[in-house]
Order: sequence, then structure tokens, then C-alpha cells
Amino acid sequence: MDAAPIAYESRKEDLMNKKSIRRIRLGHLKNEKFAPIAHTTNPQLQYNGGPVLANAEVFTIFWGGAWNNQPALANLSQSINDFFFKFILTSPLIDQLAEYSVPSHAIGHGKWVGTKTLGTEPGPLIDDSAIQTTLQGWIANEPGFPQPNANSLYFIYFPPGTVITLDTDSSCQRFGGYHDDIGGRIVYAVEPFCMANSGSLSQLDFFTLTSSHELCEAITDPVPGQGWYWFKDQKHQGEIGDICESAPNAEERMGVYLVQREWSNHLKGCV
Ligand SMILES: [Zn+2]
Repeated sequence: MDAAPIAYESRKEDLMNKKSIRRIRLGHLKNEKFAPIAHTTNPQLQYNGGPVLANAEVFTIFWGGAWNNQPALANLSQSINDFFFKFILTSPLIDQLAEYSVPSHAIGHGKWVGTKTLGTEPGPLIDDSAIQTTLQGWIANEPGFPQPNANSLYFIYFPPGTVITLDTDSSCQRFGGYHDDIGGRIVYAVEPFCMANSGSLSQLDFFTLTSSHELCEAITDPVPGQGWYWFKDQKHQGEIGDICESAPNAEERMGVYLVQREWSNHLKGCV
């Protein structure tokens, strides 16, 4: 069939373009091998015509029996839910994203719409492709899972001992979290359980830091590269959080929660 090669080429091109989009969170782990993006001069996020999440509806998923069976992890999952339910989605961090509103979508406060702990196990090693398949299965079959709409954002938290691979990169070595989309329809963020690697960071700090980064990126660029994205060259590119993750004072404690500052085109700085 004539159409097949064209479709294939087009799909391949899409994939290659996507691979060149940096969607990885590295920064604050303060480890040289994480090679964070250089905080560099004159970044400027550009809007590329795709969707943004106007009022994010966050659903948290805790995958693995440990989130139920280990009291410390059960408490941690509760604290992460509180972070979304009581704080971040109505915080000044979201207010400052209003400058990235686009004609039909004004970015404003979001809401936490629920949570689910799954007693199945992700195993010691799982690739992003398997995470995507699993998430689609949950949405289709698991009771209590919201169906995706234009504001949905699924945050998946992994237990200790699971390594996640994304292309050729591994969690906690090359990234501390990422967000992506499935066919432009399902927007999700992946949160590996990396140890904080610093005496001053608690495990909750680690998760709120990476979650704030991925949240702001998923809101402003839910389909990576199609929303607000800065592309100068392979070394100088990224989303709203990537630009600031290596900046001086990239981290900020708001109340009890540690979050990451985000790039403002308007103020020309990490705020
Ligand atoms: Zn990022």
C-alpha cells in the first residue's frame, strides 16, 4: 500500500522529534553524573501551538504493595496527597504560570481529584512503554480511576527498588522524574523513588521538589515540545522547570513544602 511508508515515515519523524525534546528532570540531586542542564543566559520559552492544562486535575497513583504495607510509606503517600490537595495546586507557584495562558486556555488553579494505591508490583525494572500500557489499562479497568479530560494529569509514584528506564536513561541515575503524554490524550508524570542523597532533603522534600517541577511543566507543556518550550540547541533547551533546576537558589521552601522555582519569561528569571 502506498500510504504505509508515508505514514511510517511520518510516525518515525514524530518519534525522532520527540526524542530530541528534553523531558527529564535531573537537577537538585547534586550529583555530577546527573549532568543537569546549565543555567544559561537569555532563555525564552516559546509557545508552539499545542495544549496547556488550564486547571490541572491531578490524580495520584501509588504503585506497589509497599505504599500500603510500610507505615512510613503510607504516611509519605498521605503527605504527597496533602501537598496536592491542600497546597500546590492553589499556590502562588500556579498563579505565576498565568503568564503562559494561551488564547482559549487561561492557566489558573487546579485541583486534586483523588488517589489510588495499587497493590500490584511494578517490579525491579520497568520501561516507560510498559508504564504507558499499564496506565491505559488502569484507566480502562480500575474502579475509581478518572477518565482523562483536557485537564487530567496522572502522577505515578513508584516504590523503593524499582528502576525506570526512559529511552536509554535510568531513573535516579539520569533523571529524578519526567512527564509525557500518550497520544496527546493522557498526560502523566513518573516519580521514581530516589533517595534524597543529601542530609538536608527528606524523602518528602525530594518528591515535592520533583513533583512541583513536573507539575509546572505538565501544565505549560503537556505534550512535550508542543506547548511552552525553549529550544536553542541540544545543550540549551528545555521546559519551564529545566531552565531553572540548576539556577542558584533553585529550591524554595513554601510553608512546609520544598518546591522548585520556575522560569518566568515576563520577569526574566527563576521565580
Ligand atoms: Zn523538566
